[in-house]
Amino acid sequence: MNNLSINEIQRFSFDNTNVRGERVLLTDAYQEIIKRKQYPLPLEKLLGEFVAAIALLRDIIKIDGVLSIQAKGNGFLSTLMTECDEFQNLRGVIQWDETQNVPDQLPLTEVLAGGYLVITIQPRNGQRYQGIVEIVGDTLAECLEQYFLQSEQLPSRVWLAANGAQCGGLFLQRLPAEQAKSGDEDAWERFTHLASTVKAEELLGLETTELLHRLYHEESLRLYDTKSMQFGCSCSRERTFGAVMSLGAEEVREILIEQGSIKVDCQFCAEHYEFFEADLAAALGDQAQTH
Ligand SMILES: [Zn+2]
Repeated sequence: MNNLSINEIQRFSFDNTNVRGERVLLTDAYQEIIKRKQYPLPLEKLLGEFVAAIALLRDIIKIDGVLSIQAKGNGFLSTLMTECDEFQNLRGVIQWDETQNVPDQLPLTEVLAGGYLVITIQPRNGQRYQGIVEIVGDTLAECLEQYFLQSEQLPSRVWLAANGAQCGGLFLQRLPAEQAKSGDEDAWERFTHLASTVKAEELLGLETTELLHRLYHEESLRLYDTKSMQFGCSCSRERTFGAVMSLGAEEVREILIEQGSIKVDCQFCAEHYEFFEADLAAALGDQAQTH
């Protein structure tokens, strides 16, 4: 098996049923994200599940804009965030308590104790929408299933896996009955039961057509075009400059006096930005005159 360059998501549906699905498999796109930081393997795996999840969500919730999943809680993780835009650019980051040993297993109910997931839909034009789902289970898949039930009232099943080299996911959703093309009553039970037999190695090791054939060769399956996905960070010197100036002229001057320059590292891609007095002078001067 050679999955070294697969970074794809593919939609599928079953003829004469109201069930649709998505399958994502990411290699380089995922590796680009995790190599930006020295993550212990359990965190690489957890971040991989979040990256696969945002890729699935991106193809299910179609908007022109940015979609993100952010986890919040009082456990060992302080930041866990993934994002995907309409051009299939993926990025993600975890920040954790580096003074503690990282356990092999990271059940979400512990590492995000009392926490929740925030799913943000930010269209390019239009209002931001946020959905919040409590951490209802130890896996991200369980929390996402709850999110779909809450936000769309649609039964959905999610399978996610990651191993530090690949991350992948499988998604099934039962659309409202009136959209059913015929009365295959058992379809949902049958398809989800079959998908539940998928092992992590298959989810990460098989190409989509192979995986779906293995599961559903007796069904009438329809595959849609694949979409490629890649790592991409939306940070820029201009945006970072804006963030620095939002601290206020006084604060910016203080940091310049103390440190000689203002250094900012992008948490997603680790790009370094540094601003000196000459870079900031015009903006500082303008603000000073308004006092
Ligand atoms: Zn960046």
